[in-house]
Amino acid sequence: MRLFAPSLAFVDLETTGTHASGDRITEVGVVRVDADPGGGSPRVDEWSSLVDPQVPIPPYVQALTGITDAMVRAAPTFPSVAGEVARRLDGCLFVAHNARFDFGFLKHAFARVGVAFSPRVLCTVRLSRRLDPDADGHGLDAVIARHGLDPGGRHRALGDARALWLFVQRLYATRPAADIEAAVKRLLRIPSLPPQLPPDALEGIPDAPGVYLFYGENPLPLYVGKSVHLRDRVAAHFCTDWQQESDARLSAEIRRIEVETTAGELGALLRESELVKTMLPAHNRALRRKQDAGVMTLDEDGRPAFVRAALVDPAGVPGAYGPYASRRAMRQRLQALAAEHRLCWTRLGLERRDGPCFARQLRRCEGACVGAEALDAHDARLREALGAEAIPAWPFRGPALVREASPDGGRVDVHVVRDWHWVGTARDDGELAALIEAPVRAEFDLDVCRLLLRLYAKSPRAFVTTVQ
Ligand SMILES: [Zn+2]
Repeated sequence: MRLFAPSLAFVDLETTGTHASGDRITEVGVVRVDADPGGGSPRVDEWSSLVDPQVPIPPYVQALTGITDAMVRAAPTFPSVAGEVARRLDGCLFVAHNARFDFGFLKHAFARVGVAFSPRVLCTVRLSRRLDPDADGHGLDAVIARHGLDPGGRHRALGDARALWLFVQRLYATRPAADIEAAVKRLLRIPSLPPQLPPDALEGIPDAPGVYLFYGENPLPLYVGKSVHLRDRVAAHFCTDWQQESDARLSAEIRRIEVETTAGELGALLRESELVKTMLPAHNRALRRKQDAGVMTLDEDGRPAFVRAALVDPAGVPGAYGPYASRRAMRQRLQALAAEHRLCWTRLGLERRDGPCFARQLRRCEGACVGAEALDAHDARLREALGAEAIPAWPFRGPALVREASPDGGRVDVHVVRDWHWVGTARDDGELAALIEAPVRAEFDLDVCRLLLRLYAKSPRAFVTTVQ
């Protein structure tokens, strides 16, 4: 018998409630199905266990599942069955009805015992919906009724897990295997590589941070991208489920893929920014977006003004406001602040007109535009309202170093940063010494600025001063 994965684990849980992080598991049922490589019948192994949730089960849940406090009192706790569950699910495609629920509970339960749990997950609600889009319902009762399944033991973990395995067998008995596999493939977002790429083109790509380059016929790349999960990100370009038009055009031109790993997210972002700037890949529209970005300053008259990336003076970024993805984004932010703080649209530069501003006409401006509020008072309120938008002063004399270690610790990148800009990334002491003396050369970069601000807010000690 043919199946859509070599090993499947049909899983159902009973729980004390619906919140994966707060509620607890009371029963686990697993039907593991391993395909026979010789094409014979698959090996099926059923297992279930009650689990002591160590909290009371609400009465209505006891009534629904038939699992009572008394039944679980003598049962093992999750930590004591975790090993058994992990062993049974090992190497399997995780299949469940409304899989997010069961997967979420198990992920949390495993996390509490320090075990990472990240199987590929197939949801049979979505599978049913994809194969029978016109059917009335896709809850387990509806699926069982529609397909005439008889699992026994409904609302208990093993009974429901068994129902899912029966459902899949019924699908194979009644439809072309290719249809089922196509549906599963779409749900699992298994990429369909363009035919001109070798079938193993994704295999050597590590699950690590870094940049990837798509090449066509020419020596310069078509596209440069970055990710903290290179393999998934590259694969996503070839998944028809969420493929964008731009990806479709890229797929047609691509001939080979190159990747470069970095220690972490910051390194990937910086390297992408550098490659895009020097190689100008035809498909990178990100470049254009970067040019639209900028910061806001208050001019000598106290009015907001937008400074776009190319005109930003690096030393002026600390103390400015933002950063913003575009002039439009800045205006939207000002409009929101105006609404919240009854500020004046004319004074904020959101419109030019004499007399009452747009907000004043809606009685949402204190009246700087009509002399009802002194400009000084208005501008003081504006600066107050902008408090959270202010880019903090650069906390160091001169540049600072940000060391970024890869998750396995095998690689450390040293980034030299200054005034929330990137100066460069050093690979050895000589480069580092030169970079520490170097001025900021890179144009203002929204993503870099945001990432550095976020990093500093979260862990200021990641920045090491270079001037004692
Ligand atoms: Zn006004």
